[in-house]
Formats: sequence, structure tokens, C-alpha cells
Amino acid sequence: MDQFERLSQLPLRDDLRGRHPYGAPQLDVPILLNVNENTFGVPLDAKEAILKAVADELDGLNRYPDREFTELRRALAAYLGHGLTEENIWAANGSNEVLQQLLQAFGGPGRSVMGFPPTYSMYPLLASGTGTDYVAGTRDGDFGLSAGSAAAQVRRQAPNVVLLCSPNNPTGTALGLDVVEAVYEAGEASKAIVIVDEAYAEFSHTGTPSALTLLEGRPRLVVSRTMSKAFALAGARVGYLASAPEVADAIRLVRLPYHLSAITQATAVAALRNSDSLLANVEAIKVQRDRIVTELEALGLTPAPSDSNFVFFGGLQSPQAVWEGLLAAGVLVRDVGIPGHLRVTAGTEAETTAFLDGLRTILAR
Ligand code: PMP
Repeated sequence: MDQFERLSQLPLRDDLRGRHPYGAPQLDVPILLNVNENTFGVPLDAKEAILKAVADELDGLNRYPDREFTELRRALAAYLGHGLTEENIWAANGSNEVLQQLLQAFGGPGRSVMGFPPTYSMYPLLASGTGTDYVAGTRDGDFGLSAGSAAAQVRRQAPNVVLLCSPNNPTGTALGLDVVEAVYEAGEASKAIVIVDEAYAEFSHTGTPSALTLLEGRPRLVVSRTMSKAFALAGARVGYLASAPEVADAIRLVRLPYHLSAITQATAVAALRNSDSLLANVEAIKVQRDRIVTELEALGLTPAPSDSNFVFFGGLQSPQAVWEGLLAAGVLVRDVGIPGHLRVTAGTEAETTAFLDGLRTILAR
């Protein structure tokens, strides 16, 4: 009996029948460059600070944690700057949960959320989980998205929520702020909440502006961030958003009480106190990212310009064969199902070398 047959015996919601769960393969491979983690790991001084902060929480573990995670919101506001205070911040267990809570509050049955594929594969799943219609917009030929095209599509579809991913996963490319501004204006008619998912913002090239600079005077704009990528804390599950304070008030209506554990809060606050140390490898990752782009071009492939910690590249005759060849060489990359393309995370220098050497060998066969 396969998974679908087993499920068919349960009284599952009709709109979930036949759906596939999030499916990045979790394989035991020496070099994991498939889910855009920070492969440098957590530096020793940050580890020690987190260990102490967590130990200090243990005495109070019989009590529920601060439901408002005020200290964490304060620390996140200080990290983001831009004049933000704790009133502008909300956090949850990963930015996936932040996005889910936003859809619980602003999406739901009879409502729609618009995304622009190829983009983060969780968006349609978060939509279906919250009973929100997913409207797939279209991109330009080169996977780009112009302000004019995005705004026209939002005006036509009048969605309740728009998800803009910048830098975009899986392509790695950042959106111009003109796109965010145009989409925000186009969403005025349907009072659309415009979410800019900036999970990879810290890896942007110098001078790429963040949508945080647009928050002032735009109460329907939300910028989503995470500690999973640049902060090397994917395992801690901490994501957050910045917005007008009333967005957090809306989320308070749908969140579970005490959703951020005392351990999570202590970990995140300690990490933010040690952000210099945790973010120290961002520059090294950007160097490897730019190296991948240059070397893939030299191999005759077509990497997309990347503002993130990964590179999306085309020009492959058989991505599946290359994916398997790299796996055999001990390197796991991501096949995102786009013909001719694969995606690879920029790792340490040694990991990146292993990927490039493996790829060169496969392409020379
Ligand atoms: N947004 C984007 C664009 C992502 O790529 C990811 C992780 N792959 C997330 C959000 C979610 O990350 P997390 O839940 O770990 O914060």
C-alpha cells in the first residue's frame, strides 16, 4: 500500500488529497549543499554563550515562557536597526511558521495568496495548509520579475496576500525595491498584505537595499527574516518579521500561546548578543558563492546572478545524471525540478572545491 492509498482510508480534508509534503531529501552524505544552510557551523564563543543562556533557563523550565518574548523582540529590533522597536517585531519557530501565521491571519478559505514561481517551494504548501488559494504569477523569460509585470498581475488578480521572495529561492536573485513599491501600490485595491521574504538578505551584494527601508508609512508591508541562514542556526528554528505593530496584533489572534519555548528564546537572544561572531562567516560564504558563479561560467554553464548563499545554474543536459554523479562523489545538491537546472549551496572553501571538482569530472565524461 503506498502513501496515497493509506491516506485515502482516513477522513482527510478533500483539498489536501493527492498533495505531496515538503520533500528536500535528507540523505547521509558527507557534503550537504542542498538546503542552503550555513555549513561553517556555530563558532565556539557563540556555542558557549548559548549553552550558558540555556542552562540559566533550566531552573524556570517548570513555568511557561514569556508569551510575548519581549527580550527577543527587542534584540531582533536592535539587530535590524532602521529605527525599528520591539513593537515592530514578531517571531516564531522558523520563518516558515511566521509565514504560516501570516496566512492564518490574512489568508484562509475564500482568500488568495499570490507568488511568482519558480520561488520557495513552501509557499503553495503553506497556502494549502491554511486553506488559502495559491495564485501562481508568471516571471519574465530569464526568471526575473519587473515592476511593471508584477504590478499588473497583482492588479488583475487582486490577491489578499502577495509573497515576494528576495533574494529569490531557488534562483538566488534579488528584486529591485521598485518591484516591492509597485506591488504594494497595485495591492491597494485589494488591501493586500505584501510579504517580502528576505531569508537570505545578509548574503546580498553590498548596495542591494532591503525592503526594511520601505516599511515607514506602509502598514500592509511585512519583511520576513530568519536566523536559519546567515546566523547558522537552522536547528534552533527562529524566524521573525518586521512590520507595522498591528500586523503582530493580527498574528496574536492565531498563534498558539507560548509558541516560542524558553530554550528557543534564550538561544536566540544569546545568538544575537554574539551576532558579530555568528555572522563572521557570511563574507567567506559570499566569496565561495561568487567563485561558484565564475567557475560555472568557465565550464560553459549558465549560473544566475546570486545575492544569496546558493547558486542556481542551467545549461545541464541531464540534471538528474549530474545530481546522481555528485551524490556518488559525496556531494548533495538540490534538483528543484526545473529542466536543465540544479541549485547548490555555497559552503566552505573545501566543500565548494569538492562540488566543483566533482562537477568538472562529471561534465568531462
Ligand atoms: N524562506 C525562504 C526563501 C527559504 O529558502 C527558507 C528555507 N529554505 C525559509 C523561508 C524558511 O526557513 P526557516 O523556517 O528555517 O526560517
